[in-house]
Amino acid sequence: MENHTTRPHHVAVVGSGPSGFYAAAALLDAEPDVRVDMFDRLATPWGLVRAGVAPDHPKIKSVSGQYDKTAAREGFRFFGHVCLGEDISREELLERYDAIIYAVGSQTERRLGIPGEDLPGSIASVDFVGWYNGHPDYVDLAPPLATERAVVIGAGNVALDVARMLLLPEADLRSTDTADHALDALVASSVREAIICGRRGPREAAFTTTELRELNDIEGLAVVADPEQVPADIADDDTLPKATRRNLELLRGFAENAPGPEAEHRMEFRFYRSPVEIRGDGRVEEIVLAINRLETGDDGRTRAVDTGERETVATGLVLRAVGYRGLALPGVPFDDDTGTVPHTEGRIDGEGHDREYVVGWIKRGPSGIIGTNKKDANETVRHLVADLADREPVATDAGHHDTIETWLRDRCPDLVDQAGWQAIDAHERGRGETHGRPRVKVVDREELLKLSRP
Ligand code: NAP
Repeated sequence: MENHTTRPHHVAVVGSGPSGFYAAAALLDAEPDVRVDMFDRLATPWGLVRAGVAPDHPKIKSVSGQYDKTAAREGFRFFGHVCLGEDISREELLERYDAIIYAVGSQTERRLGIPGEDLPGSIASVDFVGWYNGHPDYVDLAPPLATERAVVIGAGNVALDVARMLLLPEADLRSTDTADHALDALVASSVREAIICGRRGPREAAFTTTELRELNDIEGLAVVADPEQVPADIADDDTLPKATRRNLELLRGFAENAPGPEAEHRMEFRFYRSPVEIRGDGRVEEIVLAINRLETGDDGRTRAVDTGERETVATGLVLRAVGYRGLALPGVPFDDDTGTVPHTEGRIDGEGHDREYVVGWIKRGPSGIIGTNKKDANETVRHLVADLADREPVATDAGHHDTIETWLRDRCPDLVDQAGWQAIDAHERGRGETHGRPRVKVVDREELLKLSRP
């Protein structure tokens, strides 16, 4: 068998978000002569760092600097605007690469399954987040913002992100890289209030402390909660994890807030509420919420139980932020219950898949923060590298690297390579600089492709 130090391995990474980049970096660290080709269906890399992280969180987005360093390493190539399953197939990748790592994330929403869920004005957070972040698929969303109150379903960080984006003061919005179409719409919006509904209680909420704490610093925003739901002694229970207690202290602080007349905007946390119906004549006009009590199951997990009582809230906009969900990849095993690919520590399970691997949300489900993907990718890559060491390579000719590129360019004449992305990036940053913003995003596919051409 030929040693990999004399003939490099070729690995395809499908998806260019955090988990894809951490996998690429781990591979390049483990096998200095490995060739890593990263694919994305979009013309731009970085996945949720570009299209998911809220625009008013530039520090979180700055992690992209690490991805730039990985992209500059010997042996790495980026091929954007290439869609697996449309432009190229899994089988074609397996013919050309020693292994494939799928890093495609969770590209769709978890459904509520209630009447009225699809009324105009009821919007999945996946779409709303994509819209304000300039994801080309969601540019035309046009959320109805001529309503005073929005209701956000879910008690996680995405719920906080979307509620905050609706209520940020104009000056805060204008200094971000929010896509221009969304910036204009948000500045002109009539939304003054967002009610965040959690189906369980404050102890069970999935917010992280930093995200709750920063709400105190937003100009003109009154953040409130019901003192009966968040009583004065709620954080006293020292059997609770430290992070939960800190969150409860913050929520208790909100319960003590009385919105002053100076508050332009209002964010309310309302717990023990599940949506049961969204109603309206051709568009959202109100949402019916079930009032829940909590019950602890045999597994120790607390669950929400409907008391039968109902509450109706008038609103023109419902944002559903109850979690993301993975989509099946053509020819790759998929667990429909979890929305993930069945795997063992990153190695995809099932016959005929011994050269395929997963990382990130398509591996473990939509949980954790960006950094969580590093450990996750390292686990997968450790196994991949061990497997490569005793595997017969798929191609042995020295020109294989170039042959792949020729095939790809022939198949996808509009592909965007690293230089093409760098041209887009420089253009966006340049436009941002003149407006005191990190970047002004280009959201039109054709314009992106045009900018990427030499
Ligand atoms: P999440 O943290 O899993 O929260 C989902 C929320 O939806 C939970 O409160 C959940 O309640 C609720 N929910 C689920 N099904 C529901 C239903 N049928 N009816 C009502 N409520 C329902 O998910 P996420 O907010 O989408 O965030 C995804 C991941 O990205 C998380 O790990 C998050 O921390 C991370 N993230 C981080 C940041 C940041 O660091 N700034 C920003 C955004 C996202 P139950 O708990 O009762 O199931």
